[in-house]
Amino acid sequence: MRDEWASDRLMNTVARPPQIFVRGQGSWLWDSEGRSYLDFTQGWAVNSLGHSPRAVVQALSRQAEQLINPGPAFYNRGMLDLAGRLCQATGSDQAYFLNSGAEANEGAIKLARKWGARHRDGAFRIVTAQHSFHGRTLATMSASGKPAFEALFEPKVPGFDKVPYNDLDALDAALGDDVVAVLLEPLQGEAGVIPATLEYLQGAERLCRERGALLMLDEVQTGVGRCGTLLAEELYGIRADVVTLGKGLGGGVPLAALLARGNACCFEPGEQGGTYHGNALMTSAGLAVVDTVLEPGFLEQVRDIGDHLRDALERLAKRQGLGGVRGHGLLLGLALNELPAAAVVREAMVEGLLINAPQPDCLRFSPALTVSHGNVDEMIRRLGRAMTHARQRKNDVEVA
Ligand SMILES: *Cc1c(COP(=O)(O)O)cnc(C)c1O
Repeated sequence: MRDEWASDRLMNTVARPPQIFVRGQGSWLWDSEGRSYLDFTQGWAVNSLGHSPRAVVQALSRQAEQLINPGPAFYNRGMLDLAGRLCQATGSDQAYFLNSGAEANEGAIKLARKWGARHRDGAFRIVTAQHSFHGRTLATMSASGKPAFEALFEPKVPGFDKVPYNDLDALDAALGDDVVAVLLEPLQGEAGVIPATLEYLQGAERLCRERGALLMLDEVQTGVGRCGTLLAEELYGIRADVVTLGKGLGGGVPLAALLARGNACCFEPGEQGGTYHGNALMTSAGLAVVDTVLEPGFLEQVRDIGDHLRDALERLAKRQGLGGVRGHGLLLGLALNELPAAAVVREAMVEGLLINAPQPDCLRFSPALTVSHGNVDEMIRRLGRAMTHARQRKNDVEVA
């Protein structure tokens, strides 16, 4: 367990449970006291192939022996190979690699402003959605529609207009002459796993084409197979001009990507950069992940196990009198009605299960894309017990 003196030396940015995690394999994590936990968070969906997957470990150890980082102003094999692979598989024209999802979205914002300067007489406003989450840099917090961000770190970066999500009329009304791009998540993860409707994203694509605005999709959470397709946009039959990737792309290591199509590819030398961008070590991990996800049958398997998880959660919801299940592939949310999500997360940890609550009334499930049917069934048993305990605690408190 954590040592108080040492943990007080860390800036107080999040309330952590006392466990110290020391080992992970596939869908399992172990703490320093040897307890095991079934992990259905996978570090907020970053460990797309589970903990320490062989493909990523081998790629990293081989690459670390050979070359870690020649610097962003030189080519390395991983940078070239990953750009080629991602552009080919997603039908993109250019890629750029960064360290985090927020940085990729910052890159998208800059790209949109550059494009506006070049093609739209300097228009720079970007429409985003209420309750959206695009990261924690100052510009991406400004772009985000997360209510808790509103009062923080004023003044915000100007130029963002927020509209209600899944409301096409509101988007239509917001697309004035001064708007250069629309930035949306195909599924709002932090907001409580809220998928876009088909009509909304297809309508957003059409409106952007009509008004001459870029459609930019933040696929940091939904991309790289998470929704059962390489990109979530495929589920909607649309093509964005700009797509950002992060989280699952590196299989657990810091790696993100900015993808662009057509004349959205408009950066020129000197406009975008970063000391670690496209380094050989992280791009080798990304290549291992992308090659695994593109293996024949892999995405089919994600869809199959996603259906199994959805069915199992629906049965559990029925037994426990809970709300609905929503999401795509292996990114699912469960509405809890009156049962507090934080209490379920706490009790689940006691049962040796890691899940996450993006909102006070909802749980999020983002297991490894390689999770087994057996792991799903075991998760449901542990979650059922955790819910029963959370409900007993709540009733005890209400009686007392
Ligand atoms: C996690 C997330 C981000 C931010 O990514 P970081 O790597 O934490 O900077 C941005 N957008 C979405 C949709 C995310 O889920």
